[in-house]
Amino acid sequence: MKTPITRKQFLKISSGFAAAATFGFPNLILPRRKEKLGVALVGLGNYSHGQLRPGLRITEHCELRGIVTGSPEKIPEWQGEFGFPDKNIYDYGNMHQIADNNDIDVVYIVLPNHLHAEYSIIGADAGKHVMCEKPMAMDEAECRAMIEAAEKNRVNLSIGYRMQHEPNTQTIIRYGREQTYGRVTGIEAAGAFNGNFPEGDWRTIAAYGGGSLYDMGVYPINAIRYSSGLEPIAVTGVLSTERTEMFPDVDESAIFELELPGGIIGKGECSFARNMNHLDVSCTDGWYRLSPFLSYSGVQGETSDGTQLPPNPNHQQARQMDNDALAIKEGRPPLVPGAEGLRDVRIVQAIMESSRRGGERVEV
Ligand code: NAD
Repeated sequence: MKTPITRKQFLKISSGFAAAATFGFPNLILPRRKEKLGVALVGLGNYSHGQLRPGLRITEHCELRGIVTGSPEKIPEWQGEFGFPDKNIYDYGNMHQIADNNDIDVVYIVLPNHLHAEYSIIGADAGKHVMCEKPMAMDEAECRAMIEAAEKNRVNLSIGYRMQHEPNTQTIIRYGREQTYGRVTGIEAAGAFNGNFPEGDWRTIAAYGGGSLYDMGVYPINAIRYSSGLEPIAVTGVLSTERTEMFPDVDESAIFELELPGGIIGKGECSFARNMNHLDVSCTDGWYRLSPFLSYSGVQGETSDGTQLPPNPNHQQARQMDNDALAIKEGRPPLVPGAEGLRDVRIVQAIMESSRRGGERVEV
């Protein structure tokens, strides 16, 4: 008869397995877990240069291994800093050839909004995972085409909503979900900056996806949704422009209301004409707020019972790209998939429709 093993013996044996899994033959048990994914940035404008570049110097699960650019003069700086070979440099005309490049696992689309769908689909069709900046695309049809391309090619598609990766934002998302301060009764969110744009800047041109609602409005829209966990039933909104010479055919500002189930109203505001950066959530048993709620650093807040949410020092974009890369490595969907970007683009379109109809209620 076999002697049953004691608990002490069991723990010794199982910890031996765990040690072997971790140190002995990691590649057998955890294939690719430790390897970094190769990212190619598509578009090397302000956001890529100012935020993603420093982020990609400290990411643990991905690294910059290539670029897609229409500006050859930018190549030396990027190549000098990240040391990728010439074969990993593409332009917008030959980007599809990235399909043959095993160094690249992910393309990150950081182009003006009207190009998000086209280049996300080129990336997905090349068999690469896609990270795409917000707003996801121009309209619902483009968003759906991106989601279909990702599904067809079995790649992840994530949208660059960095706030959803930010720790204090994640805390207030949890407050909403767990009803820590009771049921949500009202939300106010405003995202705006005082901007001056040169003539011809894509943010001032409707055909390029310009305007404050696409650029800044998606932050309060997304925040109203993530802080309540509720999906809007209908919207009202009014778009406006004071500096018509700078914004000849797009909104400089917008105010809107999202009607949530249970008669809860989420009030939103965005603008290129002044600074606003706060998210206030009222509940049956208290409140919580983040201010600023969308800055690259310093997102902080407080609650009605005196809880402080001090700023998290970590790099937001590095955290976002690492989370997305880890999801790819582990074969699971990203935290912010295409469906999430699609919902906000539908709301943006409904607010625009409401404004065209003089602020009428439009169902989503
Ligand atoms: P930008 O104008 O600084 O850069 C755009 C880049 O696209 C430039 O390198 C430009 O050369 C290139 N480009 C290629 N084709 C173009 C064309 N037809 N017209 C104009 N430019 C063209 O813009 P940005 O501020 O870097 O924004 C890029 C994207 O990133 C946008 O979708 C924006 O919404 C998003 N963004 C996100 C955040 C965030 O916090 N998540 C912040 C800023 C920008």
